Amino acid sequence: MSEEAKVRDQLAAGESGPDLGRREILVPGGHGTAFVARAGQLVEIVDVEGQQVADFVAFAERNRTEWLSTTHTRSAILRLTVEVGDRLESNWRRPMFEILHDDVGRNDIITSMCDDRRYRLDYKVEGHRSCRTNFTEALEPWGIGEWQIPDPFNFFQNAPIHRDRTFGNEIPSGRPGDKLVLRTLMDAIVSVSACPQDLNPCNGFHPSPLVIRIIDSPGEVP
Ligand SMILES: [Zn+2]
Repeated sequence: MSEEAKVRDQLAAGESGPDLGRREILVPGGHGTAFVARAGQLVEIVDVEGQQVADFVAFAERNRTEWLSTTHTRSAILRLTVEVGDRLESNWRRPMFEILHDDVGRNDIITSMCDDRRYRLDYKVEGHRSCRTNFTEALEPWGIGEWQIPDPFNFFQNAPIHRDRTFGNEIPSGRPGDKLVLRTLMDAIVSVSACPQDLNPCNGFHPSPLVIRIIDSPGEVP
């Protein structure tokens, strides 16, 4: 049995996971979750079946006017994508996360999240789930409203940047079990969406689950 299948069985059985100090969240394809990550904890995002994008936003736990910012991160790293070793900055130019591990090596920090307007205006589809809906639902317990949600980090998204500075939207190269690991540098409210987009190549036309692990021990870095 694969590691991901074991996690699914444990979750289905109501078990908390194999190790103390670990938390696992199974995010069904097209849905989202939110949780608190403490400074020093690792956040591991697993692409269970492959080709799935993980939209990721975060707020400083102590002050919701500070959030994880793609704009400030781009300005800090002087690059249009993120990779292992990068520190992801807040709108107050403080590091919130560091990328420790990345199996896929393709991440997008340019494009917006999907929302109901995207599906209604561009695809003529009403009532489609969206990353904005997922974030809004997941962050509601913290009093964070829809209008406060910042542009996301789109982990695993395959948006290649071309020589003429246009960029694409292609099927992700993530394989089953591929993961990205972040070290949390600031107590944060985190939300992750398994992007529901099934009408273009963004998720291989088939949204699928993510597993999120919040890990206490830095010694468990893969
Ligand atoms: Zn989306």
